[in-house]
Amino acid sequence: MYDIIIIGAGTAGLSAAIYAVRAGKSVLVLEKNVYGGQIISAPEVENYPGIRKISGYEFAENLYLQAAGLGAELKYEKAVRILNGEKEKKIMTNRSEYQCRSIILSTGAKNRHLGLEREEELTGAGISYCATCDGAFYRGKDVAVAGGGNTALEDAGFLSGYCRTVWIIHRRDTFRGEERLLQALKKKENVRYILDSQVICLNGERRLESITVKNVKTMQEQELLISGLFVAIGQEPDNRDFENLVGLDKAGYIQAGEDCRTCTPGIFTAGDCRAKAVRQLATAAADGAVAALAACAYLE
Ligand code: NAP
Repeated sequence: MYDIIIIGAGTAGLSAAIYAVRAGKSVLVLEKNVYGGQIISAPEVENYPGIRKISGYEFAENLYLQAAGLGAELKYEKAVRILNGEKEKKIMTNRSEYQCRSIILSTGAKNRHLGLEREEELTGAGISYCATCDGAFYRGKDVAVAGGGNTALEDAGFLSGYCRTVWIIHRRDTFRGEERLLQALKKKENVRYILDSQVICLNGERRLESITVKNVKTMQEQELLISGLFVAIGQEPDNRDFENLVGLDKAGYIQAGEDCRTCTPGIFTAGDCRAKAVRQLATAAADGAVAALAACAYLE
């Protein structure tokens, strides 16, 4: 019987674990994939207060070592169901089941897909959702990045160091990402822009060989010969397994205010899976602290 089980070992979940073990609670963190969550694929983090510059991987590793060093337990299992008893809660995973007195859901969000035909088939064969993981495979090649947020701008900057040409394809003519990142990107000579445009077709036999891009204003189509397409069009949540216990908003995010309490007593939520306006590393860590302390107060 654990005091708190945390589902998801991203920034929010591991921050919650740090606060909970320091408050003397027994803590199990369940993670279906690898610890670190989304930040692990960020080439560089320079907006986390108190840390001037760090790679996403190193940040995630530090978080994990900090939580584990303080006594949090981590198991690589996927939580698939929660049974909410009056005094105890049960979590069924793909391998086992665990009992606890309170739960923090920090399931994060997963990469949004373009929704194009053959997208799944060509993933790993020219289509990637992680420039830092796969960028080195495209050394000297022509690639494209789809998206206009911070991730797309950072990915394009990172890829410009390896690739011959990096096309950035965005559906509008202004970027959602920060001006500072855009200005830095504009200094790179091998980055080109295709604005007001969407990728509409993925072409190639066994691997991606080209994409068809359509201008949404002129409706003109062009074929771009590229070896890799990096999709960076944001994230979406994946909380359907728990919707019987926590309210989800229209987009699938868990409904809870800044106090991180869901509608079920003893179940809390933290990080990008929570319905909120700002999804940043700093707010994920803050949520983790708030949810852990709320869970401690509930247990006492
Ligand atoms: P994001 O900010 O949600 O941006 C997603 C981008 O993809 C937008 O430009 C959007 O276009 C476009 N898009 C969405 N759906 C699309 C579709 N179906 N087809 C084509 N384009 C589509 O996502 P993100 O860049 O991954 O960033 C997520 C959060 O993490 C943000 O809060 C961001 O600030 C933060 N982040 C911060 C840093 C940093 O501070 N260093 C780095 C990475 C991420 P529209 O603009 O037209 O909607």
